[in-house]
Amino acid sequence: MLRVPAKLNLHLQVGLRREDGYHDITTAYQAVSLYDIVKISLTEASRGVTITVTGVDSDRIPTDSRNLVVRAAQALSSHIGIDPNLHFELIKSIPTGGGLGGGSADAAAALVGSNILWKAGADEDCLLAIAARIGEDVPFFVKGVVAISTGHMQPPMSLKHGNHIWYWVLGILPSGLSTKEVFEKHDEVSATRVFCEETYRYRRERCVKTAWGSTPPHLLIASLLNDLEEASIELLPSIGRALSAGKNAGALASLLAGSGSACAFLARSEDHARGLVLKLQEINIFRQIALVIGPVGGVRVLG
Ligand code: ATP
Repeated sequence: MLRVPAKLNLHLQVGLRREDGYHDITTAYQAVSLYDIVKISLTEASRGVTITVTGVDSDRIPTDSRNLVVRAAQALSSHIGIDPNLHFELIKSIPTGGGLGGGSADAAAALVGSNILWKAGADEDCLLAIAARIGEDVPFFVKGVVAISTGHMQPPMSLKHGNHIWYWVLGILPSGLSTKEVFEKHDEVSATRVFCEETYRYRRERCVKTAWGSTPPHLLIASLLNDLEEASIELLPSIGRALSAGKNAGALASLLAGSGSACAFLARSEDHARGLVLKLQEINIFRQIALVIGPVGGVRVLG
């Protein structure tokens, strides 16, 4: 049995779409304490990879080869040259379509767990390389904590971290967003603007040089950023209302999670976070509100 956290993007810069169809992304990830559980058992070889999903949003999650867990197990099995023979039981707490990386997190847990069950002996670099082929943010979940990623297929750089605890309140809206649609909308809203390569490079360098792991959260408020916010709000205007509601409730900052639709509100302390939870519950726009902390470690084997 393994557990794997959700992530927030403390900083998410989107560059131009490249020839391979992906955008240049510069991001600072932080893993936060909302966990999926992944149980894995060996089955007969002829059964391939099977999945059952329970918990949050389980009715919206595919149990065939579209599930990133299946893709992860198949990728490792073809790397080591065996027929996959595993059953996965996913117990979801990470809402889907929230930009919290639930599918990628499960894929990372599946890779780590399959490697153990099959006694495949793949080292961390090998797992990270397979993870990167499944999805851009999958490698981050192997170690979690705080890391910077500067592009597709580049391994995330883990950052030194201090003892600062970030208290977040996550507001989960009733509707999720598709990452693909958000990027398409981002291209549409950016099409009328001139893209300045120099500014992009300067912002990117600043993000890379920021000590995201070891600076106290209140000193990083001005650096929290998400370039996908405008596109996400165009697609789902309630995100704009949610982000304002967080600020009005007294959050230090309101931040869109990844490509949305979840919103993250930064608090000064645990007490402050509890107060925010109560205020945000009164507004009645979220289907779920959770108090989490970051940074936390990535995939963990529980037994
Ligand atoms: P991200 O932040 O990585 O862009 P997200 O947090 O918005 O993604 P996910 O929970 O990763 O959303 O789900 C995105 C899509 O991936 C959904 O359409 C979902 O059906 C599919 N998916 C595939 N595998 C999984 C999985 N194991 N758990 C959740 N969703 C999965």
